[in-house]
Amino acid sequence: MRLLKLVRLRDVHRAVKFSRINIFTRDGYSCQYCRHKFRTEELTFDHVVPIAKGGRKTWENIVTACWRCNNKKSGRTPEEAGMKLLKKPVKPRWNPIVTITIGIRNTPDSWRDYFYWNMELDADPVET
Ligand SMILES: [Zn+2]
Repeated sequence: MRLLKLVRLRDVHRAVKFSRINIFTRDGYSCQYCRHKFRTEELTFDHVVPIAKGGRKTWENIVTACWRCNNKKSGRTPEEAGMKLLKKPVKPRWNPIVTITIGIRNTPDSWRDYFYWNMELDADPVET
């Protein structure tokens, strides 16, 4: 099973996976609001435009944020919360091999954790 997953990860023809680890990698493991660097487990991702306000789960609307900033921003847009984004989020265009190497280095705990962090996120979440 582990082998099958490794083979699947090596598929270089796929676009950059929309996953937690790749979002964190794109943003350099820095909170996009307070600009500080954090460890993976201290980071979360933030919907720039909240889902409740029509925001989507896309590369352009998801940024890395620390728990503190994420709580502070809550269900507001950056303008409403008076918080400035470090940079405009864009869809990355890296070589997936590079992505995988970085991902493994930053999640040394176990393969299971790595797969959790590198799990593809739903493109369009079901609203509750
Ligand atoms: Zn922060």
